[in-house]
Amino acid sequence: MEKYTKHFFNNIRKKLEEWEAAASIPHEEVYRFIHSMAGSASVLGLHNIGESARKLMDHHNEEDERMWTITEVKEELFDIIQYCYHYEEESIEVFPGKQGRDGEEPVVLLIDDDTTFLMYMKDELEKIGWYVVPIANPEKAIMSYYDVRPDCAIIDIHMDGTSGFEVLDFFKKKLKQPFIPTVMVSVENSKEVRMKSYQMGADDFIAKPFDLDEFTVRVKRQMERKKQMEELVLIDELTLVYNRKYLSQAYAQVQSDWARRGDSYCVAVLDLDHFKGVNDRYGHLMGDRVLKGFASHLKSETRIQDTVFRFGGEEFVILFPHTSIKEACSFVDDIRKRFSQVIFQANPDFSCTFSAGVAEIADPTKPFDTWLKLADNALYEAKGSGRNLVRIDRKAMEHIPHKITKIAIVDDDPIIRTVMKDIVSKLPSEEHIQYDIQTFKDGASFIASDWHKGNPCLVILDGVMPKMDGLEVLEQIRSRTDSDRYKVLMLTSRKSERDISRSLQLGADDYMTKPFKLLELEARLGQMLKRMR
Ligand code: GH3
Ligand code: MG
Ligand code: MG
Repeated sequence: MEKYTKHFFNNIRKKLEEWEAAASIPHEEVYRFIHSMAGSASVLGLHNIGESARKLMDHHNEEDERMWTITEVKEELFDIIQYCYHYEEESIEVFPGKQGRDGEEPVVLLIDDDTTFLMYMKDELEKIGWYVVPIANPEKAIMSYYDVRPDCAIIDIHMDGTSGFEVLDFFKKKLKQPFIPTVMVSVENSKEVRMKSYQMGADDFIAKPFDLDEFTVRVKRQMERKKQMEELVLIDELTLVYNRKYLSQAYAQVQSDWARRGDSYCVAVLDLDHFKGVNDRYGHLMGDRVLKGFASHLKSETRIQDTVFRFGGEEFVILFPHTSIKEACSFVDDIRKRFSQVIFQANPDFSCTFSAGVAEIADPTKPFDTWLKLADNALYEAKGSGRNLVRIDRKAMEHIPHKITKIAIVDDDPIIRTVMKDIVSKLPSEEHIQYDIQTFKDGASFIASDWHKGNPCLVILDGVMPKMDGLEVLEQIRSRTDSDRYKVLMLTSRKSERDISRSLQLGADDYMTKPFKLLELEARLGQMLKRMR
């Protein structure tokens, strides 16, 4: 970028910073600023900015006496601020696969303590449109499985501490998840290592260094296989009840049944209470045992005509044919009472509860989602009213409590803060989830703030800041006892591989190199928020 253009942007930054610190801003100053932008932007060839500034001048009278707040100024100048960002990002090359993500891209878990390799692979694989979750710490790999639900895990065999074989063992044996393809990579290409990989259930072994094209084809083939297998299977591997895919088939059955008999059908959605706590306290294996126990309890406590499905995670669905809403509700409530008395043996023994929402399928010509949503609303009401409860849908959406997810933008650059806040506030919000967004202009004020205590928090963290840099902030976040609550997206400079490497080691959940396309950021945030649900 030209020296003068850079200077121009820096002036805007300085001004915004100055204004952010002020209680209010005299109109005269705002007008002068717009005026000078209108002049210099066009000279520098930044025509969009010049044009916007001229339009603003037409709107305002130099002689006005009013005072502005910083929020008003930012709103008024938003177009200009956004153009500044776009001009600065223009120098980035765009990769064909990188745009227009729809959340359906394959998700690859890449586990390697060699951060240079992680960075290189992430860059390359994202060019072809994959979403790569880089993991430098193998212990974290095991935890991330539940968060990420990858389509493939690529595991380096030789790592410090935990070996890649231990991670493989977790994926294959403990998780009993044969459908997640595992690809081992290693610089040691001996017959022993290859054989051990295959014996332990790895789906492929690729020696380092490898040809990237061949690597991609081989991994892609594994992911295609996974997809095909999943399509064939209608039973949930862990709990042995029907899976979500079978739910649509079962509903088709309801629809044809109803056409013939016209009867009352109900659906219930059940979700274990504070299940994350079980995992945290007793480990994931115990968590899996609870899920199995829950599923078998549901099967044994329902009637022969009822069908139980694992909808995902710790959420189950029951379909009740020929049942009124009153009956369905009392069935589920009986199941609830008895389940709360089931004891799980551990140290110490414990019991679990669930909450449920029930809805009537009033008109089976409508898609199943209609009823699922009603039941889900009721479920959230049950959660909000204290859990271990069964609720019927009341269609009263306003009264449904929202879960709050905090999103912190920590960046010393006011242009970036403004543009990002805008993007984040426009992210489509998930049902029942409300985003609470706050910007911080340095790391110290983020760390000192009480605002992010208690809720899940996504931190968009600039790597380089005065006072306390991003790495230090990350380190402090990761040393908290409730570090789990925080997901960190690190913004690093393209040139600073050391910072990227360091942030991965310190436990950043993802990173992006500055400057980046806003579309790219949007997709990335979407992915991360999805994982925080
Ligand atoms: P709430 O009462 O609000 O439902 O709280 P919760 O902790 O149950 O809900 P949340 O959705 O926050 O956490 C669900 C957890 O379930 C997070 C995830 O790690 C865990 N989980 C999802 N699938 C599995 C699984 O197959 N096995 C194990 N062990 N844990 C799982
Ligand atoms: Mg739950
Ligand atoms: Mg849940």
